[in-house]
This record gives sequence, C-alpha cells and structure tokens, in this order.
Amino acid sequence: MTDPRPVPVPAASSAPYWEGAAQGRLLLPFCSDCARHFFYPRAWCPVCMGRNLVWREASGRGTVHTFSVVHAAPAVGFEGQVPYVIAVIDLAEGPRMMANLVNCAPEAARVGLPVRVVFEQRGEMRVPQFTPADGY
Ligand SMILES: [Zn+2]
Repeated sequence: MTDPRPVPVPAASSAPYWEGAAQGRLLLPFCSDCARHFFYPRAWCPVCMGRNLVWREASGRGTVHTFSVVHAAPAVGFEGQVPYVIAVIDLAEGPRMMANLVNCAPEAARVGLPVRVVFEQRGEMRVPQFTPADGY
C-alpha cells in the first residue's frame, strides 16, 4: 500500500535541503556574514539580513526542546500514524527545527532527550525526522 501522506514539494529556497535529505544528509543554511546556521531555509539571514549564504552539512544531533503527542489525525493520510510525537529539536549547530520523533513511544518522549536525524521515505522524497540517540 502506498503512503497516503502528502509528499513535500521543494521551493527554490529549500531545494538544497531536500537534495541533501535525498542523500541522507541534513543540510542547513549558514550565513557567512555572521557565522551562524539558521533554519528554515530562506533567501537571507534572519539575524543580520546577510545574503552570503552557503549550505553546510549538520551533525544530525540535537535534543528535544519541546514536544506534543498527536492523538487525532490532523489531515487525511495521517489516520494510521496516531498517536505520534511531533517535536521542536535544538540542533547541535544552534537552530531549532520541527520534526516527528520516530521510533519513540509517546510516553518515552521528554524534554532534553538526545536525538539524531533519520530520513523517512515519503513517496520519492526523504523527510528528515529524529529518533532517540541512544536507540531505544
Ligand atoms: Zn547573518
């Protein structure tokens, strides 16, 4: 059975992010003007408005900043997913990003949980998600 969930559609500003994900690499935009990573991808740095941006591969490591357990499917295609954990991850490089916490029972999710990136196949795309770093 095919996955009924929607498949991400890259925008011009996020195309490198999705190309990296397809290769199993978490890429973040980095501002060469103020030497900071940021997320989400956009055409200028949200800190200094600089436009000297490059893409850098992140470690894929982070910790859970906050999370919520989703019990009611938010859209068609997610009925088979609930309950699941959606989390805001503090990446080791500094930015925060929202993703699902996978391979983790809802009752095992906690603030401060060390996590690492994994890539979930979704149609022809791969979506960065996070899993507990110590593998339970
Ligand atoms: Zn900057």
